[in-house]
Amino acid sequence: MRKSPVYLDHNASTPVRPEVLEAMLPYLKGEFGNPNSVYFLGQRARKAVENARAQVAALLGAAEDEIVFTSCGSESDVAAIAGAAWQAHDESRGAKKHIVSSAIEHDAVRGLLGELKRRDFSVSEAPVDGLGLVSPAAVEALINGGTSLVSIMHANNEVGTIQPIEALSALCRARGALFHTDAVQSAGKIPLDVKKLGVDLLSISGHKINAPKGIGALYARRGIRLSPLITGHQEKNRRGGTENVASIVGLGKACELALKELSHSSELLKLRNKLEEGVLRIPGSRLNGHPTQRLPNGAHFSFQGLDGHQLVIALDMEGICVSSGPACSSGSSLPSHVLTAMGVDPELATGSLRISMGWSSTEADIARLLEALPPAVDKLRRIPAGSR
Ligand code: PLP
Repeated sequence: MRKSPVYLDHNASTPVRPEVLEAMLPYLKGEFGNPNSVYFLGQRARKAVENARAQVAALLGAAEDEIVFTSCGSESDVAAIAGAAWQAHDESRGAKKHIVSSAIEHDAVRGLLGELKRRDFSVSEAPVDGLGLVSPAAVEALINGGTSLVSIMHANNEVGTIQPIEALSALCRARGALFHTDAVQSAGKIPLDVKKLGVDLLSISGHKINAPKGIGALYARRGIRLSPLITGHQEKNRRGGTENVASIVGLGKACELALKELSHSSELLKLRNKLEEGVLRIPGSRLNGHPTQRLPNGAHFSFQGLDGHQLVIALDMEGICVSSGPACSSGSSLPSHVLTAMGVDPELATGSLRISMGWSSTEADIARLLEALPPAVDKLRRIPAGSR
């Protein structure tokens, strides 16, 4: 029989918090009005959407009219990048068609940039160092007169390294390029203030912060013009489609809770220290990512002489949910593009494990992991390399 589950993969997705579900339920039952309808039922839904917009804006330090609801983090990324790139292309009559990004972006961004490249745009990729950091000087060197946008993630979804966003946005401003950051992994985990960060566009996703899957938001600084992906009059003509009221309410509540609890990250840090101390006692293990400039909720390790995917399966047998890489490519034994870009040796990169905690994580979860991990690593290392 499977042991009681231990969930340590909060960077992949998070449980919906009871308070979030409670807030959503009325909008899945009697309060089903379309927020664009003029009668009372519609107007009550409109009020709920606007209340959620204020809650999201508060988490990000934004004004309410700078928040656009989307269907997910991926859509926020695409709406920001493609929206800004198309707009600049059209306004400059084709003169501005260059985008700068980094080598460690999420597939939502990488995939889109590949599509844009096939459609007459050019894309430059800034490298990262061994800790996963992008250098502002390297980004600056890639910007040219045709650059409309620079998009560099805030915190990496695999190793958690946090980028120097303030420096990056400042140099973009000086060079006349817009700056977008994918903050899907950092929102709710570390303080975020769009004005302090100096960004023009910023993406977040509901299911990484204890709201449901299938809801996201985009911060678009007042005055930024984006070519919309979905045309329609909703969201002030910035994103068509009838608003997903219940999920928007859930995202708002999750942001409100995250803002209140940001100060709890010191407790997560304590747990993370315990986790790291325990894991790094295993011979042939190492920590990936920046030692300090890193998300507080997790750690990413490599183990010599084993396959991370098999390690995930071995821990799954013990009821422990962790991952060997990003959720969208788990199941693959190929080294991740992030670790490759960081110059991690391919053998070590293949033997990777990402452990990420969240609101529901406890000391007992870490104790269970630390009990199960060393024998699992030991057992897998005994399998001859050719049969792994
Ligand atoms: N960006 C980052 C950094 C992510 O980690 C993810 C999800 O894993 C996304 C974007 C995509 O978000 P969503 O799953 O809401 O589309």
